Amino acid sequence: MHDLIERIESNVRGYARLFPAIFDTAVGSTLSDTKGRSYIDFFCGAGSLNYGHNNRYAKAALIDYIHRDGVQHSLDTVTAAKVAFLEAFDQLILRPRGLDYRIQFTGPTGTNAVEAAIKLARKQTKRSHVVAFTNAYHGHSLGSLSLTGNQYFHSEFYGSHNNVTHLPFDGYLGPQDTSLQLKKMLEDRSSGLPMPAAVILETVQGEGGINVASDSWLRRIASLCEQHDIRLIVDDIQVGNGRTGRFFSFEQAGIRPDFVCLSKSIGGGLPMSLVLIRPELDNWQPGEHTGTFRGNNLAFVAAAGVLKHWEDVSFENQIASRGELVFQRLRGICDRYRDADFRLRGRGLIWGLDVRSGDLSSKIIRGAFDKGLLIESSGNQDQVLKIMPALTIELPLLDEGMAILEKAIDDCMA
Ligand code: PMP
Repeated sequence: MHDLIERIESNVRGYARLFPAIFDTAVGSTLSDTKGRSYIDFFCGAGSLNYGHNNRYAKAALIDYIHRDGVQHSLDTVTAAKVAFLEAFDQLILRPRGLDYRIQFTGPTGTNAVEAAIKLARKQTKRSHVVAFTNAYHGHSLGSLSLTGNQYFHSEFYGSHNNVTHLPFDGYLGPQDTSLQLKKMLEDRSSGLPMPAAVILETVQGEGGINVASDSWLRRIASLCEQHDIRLIVDDIQVGNGRTGRFFSFEQAGIRPDFVCLSKSIGGGLPMSLVLIRPELDNWQPGEHTGTFRGNNLAFVAAAGVLKHWEDVSFENQIASRGELVFQRLRGICDRYRDADFRLRGRGLIWGLDVRSGDLSSKIIRGAFDKGLLIESSGNQDQVLKIMPALTIELPLLDEGMAILEKAIDDCMA
């Protein structure tokens, strides 16, 4: 690793620990380092590169925009770049799905969107409590951290345990329907659960170990929220933008959240976050929730660029075929190592292979890195290999990446 990274930044704090290389260029699903080695990317910037590195639409639009001196930053004044993004989002995403939402741009990163949604729910309901779920991950700033389940991220000194109750996510108690617990606690005023302002959930928990909520569970939670006038917030920061096969991860359940948080891939590789708000629930007053970087124009340009993928009617089928390839390969691995009791979870193009041990997963990740594949883990003990290639990855490259992963697993199991 570079001595400046060790001396001035840190070689243990971030991903330098996992991927000890100095990356330099990247196209599509391949990155190169300064030593000329190339790597297939199944890590995908933790879900922020669904459309690949230097996506062709985003790159062309950005080059053009910079060439003609498009406004780069102007706080949240109206710009042509913003209008073009809104037009693309409305025409390609909201209208075809029959969705009616207003957009609030919230800042550069996912946690900004979560904070805004929680504040809005609290303001509207005049209640402060929020229900989140076991293994949830919603960010690391103090408000969103309070919703994040994993105790590793908490400290009693952060004051981050305010007004939040974590209840069991779907599947957390095996086959038991955990929505019944929420139902009972809401109905029984001696349950100790204050009536919440909001329930926040990921339909597939990305950092929590690729835990997939069933459509029926999501519908039951949505209907409890409606019944009790609780805002339902879907955090689609990691699994929105086509990751589960549709643009929004909640589409197939047929629910309509009150607020939807989007970030990561929405910016086409640049920092951007937003909250979708049901129109009748948008009662922010001027200046009530602000921030300097609410919607950067370069991000709008890249974001409108990558939305072009959704003009292609076969884009969802492409995601499905890639997901199927990953699923089949992983199922083969599970069959081969039946005694190890690996578990396979996922949907669309986000798959988790639970290898039951953080030590084993880190050895596999290291072995894959040495062979030219970037992959990371998730779950409460980092025991789940997270397979999350770009939605646009070419099938032969996907196959090659899966072969490297298999080899890395075989080596560790030998
Ligand atoms: N919500 C979810 C579901 C996430 O996966 C993440 C990031 N991993 C966040 C929120 C926080 O986003 P950011 O790191 O950009 O603040």
